[in-house]
Amino acid sequence: MDYPNRFDVIVIGGGHAGTEAALAAARMNCQTLLLTHNIETLGQMSCNPAIGGIGKSHLVKEIDALGGAMALATDRAGIQFRVLNARKGPAVRATRAQADRVRYKAAIRGMLENQPNLTLFQQGVDDLIVDGDTARGAVTQTGIRFFAETVVLCTGTFLGGVIHIGLDHHNGGRAGDPPANALASRLRALPFRVDRLKTGTPPRLDARSLDFSGLEEQPGDTPTPVMSYRGNRGMHPDQVNCHIAHTNARTHEIILANLDRSPMYSGVIGGVGPRYCPSIEDKVHRFADKQSHQIFIEPEGLDTHELYPNGISTSLPFDVQLEVVRSIRGMENAHITRPGYAIEYDFFDPRDLKHSLETKFVHNLFFAGQINGTTGYEEAGAQGLLAGLNAARRAKGEESWCPRRDEAYLGVLVDDLITLGTQEPYRMFTSRAEYRLLLREDNADLRLTETGRRLGLVDDDRWRDFETRREAIERESARLRETWIQPGSVEAERLASRLDKPLAREYTLAELLKRPELVYADVASLKGEPVEDATVAEQVQIQVKYQGYIDRQQDEIDKLKRHEATVLPADLDYDRVEGLSNEIRQKLREARPETLAQAGRISGVTPAAVSILLIHLKKRR
Ligand code: FAD
Repeated sequence: MDYPNRFDVIVIGGGHAGTEAALAAARMNCQTLLLTHNIETLGQMSCNPAIGGIGKSHLVKEIDALGGAMALATDRAGIQFRVLNARKGPAVRATRAQADRVRYKAAIRGMLENQPNLTLFQQGVDDLIVDGDTARGAVTQTGIRFFAETVVLCTGTFLGGVIHIGLDHHNGGRAGDPPANALASRLRALPFRVDRLKTGTPPRLDARSLDFSGLEEQPGDTPTPVMSYRGNRGMHPDQVNCHIAHTNARTHEIILANLDRSPMYSGVIGGVGPRYCPSIEDKVHRFADKQSHQIFIEPEGLDTHELYPNGISTSLPFDVQLEVVRSIRGMENAHITRPGYAIEYDFFDPRDLKHSLETKFVHNLFFAGQINGTTGYEEAGAQGLLAGLNAARRAKGEESWCPRRDEAYLGVLVDDLITLGTQEPYRMFTSRAEYRLLLREDNADLRLTETGRRLGLVDDDRWRDFETRREAIERESARLRETWIQPGSVEAERLASRLDKPLAREYTLAELLKRPELVYADVASLKGEPVEDATVAEQVQIQVKYQGYIDRQQDEIDKLKRHEATVLPADLDYDRVEGLSNEIRQKLREARPETLAQAGRISGVTPAAVSILLIHLKKRR
């Protein structure tokens, strides 16, 4: 049958990409339909129950700054919060939260169910409705035809999913869920480049069968960090500790003796796995000289005994998994509640997408999430938000919005994917962003919320909170710039013991804050009232202390923008340009771009390479 209501946007798949896509489109006042296999699994975390971490928290905060759900759901479900790299510079600081799996799903589902303009429907999608080269809708497994202006596909690891445990394998989208095989065959008939990737998950353990006295305790940070700009500690459920365990020589022996029963090493799995989240058999095999690997023992939630042993993802047979687990100190009598497994699935070459995440071959069809070769909830959620918002804009006849690399990690993620493609599951790192001092997790709202408001993604409450925070930051920064401390004054005396060098002249509070030995709390109360909001204080401090570096990065961006029209001579010998990689030289030789801007748009030619070209041209003159 044809469903009687017509939608603006249909989103297929209720994982992390699909939920952010559907929420974004609905926030933009588009009539949106979220079609998914099972309403009970909306927002389900297929692997570890944790959100954030290095590079990833940057994406979560950007989703949040654009009005998305992930950070708020994390604040409602997080049972342990930590700031990683807390002692390093602000560019690489990252918030990570251990989440209660059930509470996280409930938080996401609550937001979906209460979102105006959003309709949920539970049923697998077997086919797309494509008219000529334009997507028009989707057909479910029982033949219901839904029509819309645009379609966003967010089917994760489900397309042609095959689950491996040892040499046994069966079809599945993830443990307990069916694969999407009919849709996979349909998509394979379209002109997209398709390939296989794989990922894996560890066995889960029953906490009652572990001896925690042999394990190192790992508490969360105090005061407890918060993920969302609109979050607070009052939203957090009870907080718990994690633990750390270690593999040992015996564990490694068991693994090595059974590699022939691993689907990875016996050649049963062809897909490439995530480099930065390798299986334990991979780690033991590749880093043979390492005596031990860390395992973080993370609770799956407050109302369950299940634990997630982070670090021993495996697809070895169950009997070997049990032997491996029980060889570890503290786990001698461990009971495995769910075996670990690997999954192979179809992904589509993201080079077949535009920056808006619309496909190049089928108009009005957008892809987001693991289907584009990424791994991780955060990478999926960020793409989902972007695809949802651009599908909504297309449905309204508006131009797409594509963040630049100097604007957001979301810009870096999409640009990397669509220009470079990926040969292995792509995950975000701060090192992927050339302007990471500008793209901090602490300032995602300052970078993006105004744009989000303009795009219709940010509601009145969030906008009001944001404006209050932005004004507080500006007011406090101005106060620090305009408040002077004289040498020999009472204030200077109060500060004397904290100073490396005494004050030789009059200083503003901002100038004093630039000194490495001083922090905001040292200077802010010398004269006048310091701000109470710790996030405002932190922002003011970062902006003041890193002003020089931030300005330099901004100059670099402005300079590149100014030189975009610079002509590249037709006879330019790229082999003589020092500092370019051979791969980039070859691409430039083949493409022969006419301007720097064109060079920068060639797949694989990085902004750093464009800078090198600019310097080379200046030297030539
Ligand atoms: P998913 O979360 O997979 O959601 C897809 C959704 O689409 C599901 O709700 C599904 O039911 C629905 N769906 C699919 N097909 C259809 C259809 N035809 N009709 C209707 N609905 C459909 N990430 C890491 O960062 N590190 C890891 O170590 C890691 N390990 C993993 C291990 C395993 C075993 C799995 C399965 C995933 C792992 N991941 C890991 C990846 C992480 O789970 C994904 O990156 C993330 O969930 C992707 O989000 P998504 O929204 O793209 O897809």
